[in-house]
Amino acid sequence: MKELTHYINGQSVSGSSGRFGDVFNPATGEVQARVPLASKEEFDAAVEIAAKVQPKWGAVNPQRRARVMMKFVDLLHRDMDKLAEVLSSEHGKTFPDAKGDVQRGLEVAEYCIGAPQMLKGEFTDSAGPGIDMYSMKQPLGVCGGITPFNFPAMIPMWMFAPSIVCGNAFILKPSERDPSVPILLAELMEEAGLPKGVLQVINGDKVSVDAMLSNPTVQSIGFVGSTPIAEYIYGTGCANGKRVQCFGGAKNHMIVMPDADMDLAADALVGSGYGAAGERCMAISVAVPVGEETADRLIEKLAPRIEKLKVGPYTAGDDVDFGPVVTSAAKQNILNLVQSGIDQGAELVIDGRDFSLQGYEHGFFVGPHLFDRVTPDMDIYKKEIFGPVLSTVRAGSYEEAIGLAMSHEYGNGTAIFTRDGDTARDFANRINIGMVGVNVPIPVPLAYHTFGGWKKSVFGDLNQHGPDAFKFYTRTKTVTSRWPSGIKEGGEFNFKAMD
Ligand code: NAD
Repeated sequence: MKELTHYINGQSVSGSSGRFGDVFNPATGEVQARVPLASKEEFDAAVEIAAKVQPKWGAVNPQRRARVMMKFVDLLHRDMDKLAEVLSSEHGKTFPDAKGDVQRGLEVAEYCIGAPQMLKGEFTDSAGPGIDMYSMKQPLGVCGGITPFNFPAMIPMWMFAPSIVCGNAFILKPSERDPSVPILLAELMEEAGLPKGVLQVINGDKVSVDAMLSNPTVQSIGFVGSTPIAEYIYGTGCANGKRVQCFGGAKNHMIVMPDADMDLAADALVGSGYGAAGERCMAISVAVPVGEETADRLIEKLAPRIEKLKVGPYTAGDDVDFGPVVTSAAKQNILNLVQSGIDQGAELVIDGRDFSLQGYEHGFFVGPHLFDRVTPDMDIYKKEIFGPVLSTVRAGSYEEAIGLAMSHEYGNGTAIFTRDGDTARDFANRINIGMVGVNVPIPVPLAYHTFGGWKKSVFGDLNQHGPDAFKFYTRTKTVTSRWPSGIKEGGEFNFKAMD
């Protein structure tokens, strides 16, 4: 059995806690590796290493730090296929999807090459007699990040790239479900010139998360994952005096107006609802057609498209639309929710429960499901399913549709499909959700904008990547200095007239 490691001070280090987690191949259901689950002592030792190296790294000029990112981006391009292969084998997503996962992280590293510009401070010359005032953006010190299973390349890079380019040391605690890619990324950062110990990867579970939360040297924590854990980490981290940003779960609605291009809307729903087996925080999981006729037309367009979806292992080639879900527990949770939908009276238009693939009978595959006539009181509407299950809630009017999305506790992403500019504009302005698409189903902002939801999808003030990342990973210091021998303020001017 392959045994994975931590990545500490530039080396692969075996776990010493004696605790391990299983890493599955979701397509076959087999355990393909064991990942060490760190103890508090192992985590704290990595923090000590980080704390020693960080002041030296923080003193490296921003251009040099940016050059590491530049080289890192090249190396990501070089190793794209290798990274995607490892990622697919542990996560189960298709090969093109896995490459997309690496690519969206790469784009944030690319954005970080502009760090010298982003880190420039402010300066006021002659703020008083012989007085200058300037502000600097300084690194925080040692930062930590806790990431989910569903984007094992992208989300770690969203955190460590800006943190490190700002001059911090970073300790990543990736998901224990697919931990290999983060280690490969750390190795690439060092190949790109990053000094040892600036980026470390500690594998683990709640024990290492709690070690991060309680270690006084850790200055900031970034978290992405489910909402209950986000709430816990935000509450505990803040109580322990850390700067914390946590991104949680989602239930993304797509409103389909009667005037929408119905083929475009159906294609968008299929791609965004079932892509990556629905295991995306920006997946559309609720379709809200406005009016009975729109709903009938939409279901008519959706059903044949969904029936044609090819479900299979990533090794089966590019015509596979989505792969297995990540674990058998995830599969069971999805099937339980599907059963609750049936029990609570939703109409199961497409039933993927009995899906099975010859040769992969033990894999964690779930066929696509489509529900119609879902109502807001049902569990399949209230809960995040995180699987290939699309629910349709029929709304009588635009006001009812927007009201639904606004009343849901999650507020990560949403979309409207319409040909009417007024409606689209009204929707974008009024909706209380962080990322909005107009005829775009997965409105993930590019690296130079910021990513973040509202409501129970986020805890904290600043978003991920874009300019917010430079704010999150630095703190401002303002210096007022007087050199009395300088030129006297204003010379012979009459200040009384100016006061
Ligand atoms: P998860 O919450 O189970 O795990 C996330 C991280 O928290 C992992 O590193 C895990 O080891 C750790 N963790 C798990 N249980 C813990 C506990 N009790 N105490 C401390 N730490 C714990 O999430 P997941 O299943 O890996 O990922 C899926 C979730 O992530 C979904 O809810 C999805 O919507 C969300 N997500 C959100 C975004 C976003 O930007 N809003 C992006 C991607 C995923």
